[in-house]
Amino acid sequence: AEKMHALPEDIRRRIENHPCYSEEAHHHFARMHVAVAPACNIQCHYCNRKYDCANESRPGVVSELLTPEQAVKKTLVVAAAIPQLSVLGIAGPGDPLANPERTFATFRLLAEKAPDIKLCVSTNGLALPQYVEELARHNIDHVTITINCIDPDVGAQIYPWIFWRNKRVRGRAAAEILIEQQQKGLEMLVAKGVLVKVNSVMIPGVNDEHLKEVSKVVKAKGAFLHNVMPLIAAAEHGTFYGLMGQRSPTPEELKALQDACEGEMNMMRHCRQCRADAVGLLGEDRGAEFTMDKVEAME
Ligand code: SF4
Ligand code: SF4
Repeated sequence: AEKMHALPEDIRRRIENHPCYSEEAHHHFARMHVAVAPACNIQCHYCNRKYDCANESRPGVVSELLTPEQAVKKTLVVAAAIPQLSVLGIAGPGDPLANPERTFATFRLLAEKAPDIKLCVSTNGLALPQYVEELARHNIDHVTITINCIDPDVGAQIYPWIFWRNKRVRGRAAAEILIEQQQKGLEMLVAKGVLVKVNSVMIPGVNDEHLKEVSKVVKAKGAFLHNVMPLIAAAEHGTFYGLMGQRSPTPEELKALQDACEGEMNMMRHCRQCRADAVGLLGEDRGAEFTMDKVEAME
């Protein structure tokens, strides 16, 4: 079980109705993701752009892309149908902060029309420092950053390129910039009192050993939860590790790494790697009941 009891009381209180962060809450509270963010500003080797962001969601899934207005409409319909809805997240299908207009328009409209729903967002972190102010202003109290490494030599094996200041940057230099932005963004969010969860994708032979170090560092900087997820490598899901054909970790390998990190950090163990348009309690996905055509018909 997760060692949530190790969390300080004030953080526990802030996450008690968040299904992703509290083992108990995930039976009673529902979350939904709205897929409003199509673009991405980096390339992860394990990502196939035809599908949702593989940092936050299950590979091989294509979510229905919504405009901010459609996303809000859908949220209101879902909130009426599922009263346990407590959290709305933007997690893709690309990187939410690589689509700042669409992402913040959605948050702005939601804060107006559904002020009781908590907002969260996930990001690869590249654009994070420049949006920390705006995130705090929109009262986003949970941010997830995917941090797969803190060493640019490891990063160079995970990220072939990033798009940075209107240029494509490749290799080690790209990883160096990404890592710096992620760490800076993490520190800035913590300084603002925003809760930060860190996601890491475990890639055997690439960052598996290294993730213990990542766990130590992000904990020291104030992340409250670490979620180590397995690389899901399956060609038919569109996810394979670049040309290296990297395999997925076995469940035993994943558990061993999560256990090894546990001494350092609260580990999240019930993440379901949900779709960018997931709806409902964790472990159930009612997204198919709320496609946009159905939402329009329900209104
Ligand atoms: Fe794909 Fe997400 Fe990586 Fe962007 S951040 S390349 S969408 S896995
Ligand atoms: Fe929660 Fe993980 Fe699903 Fe995100 S992907 S909604 S953190 S269970």
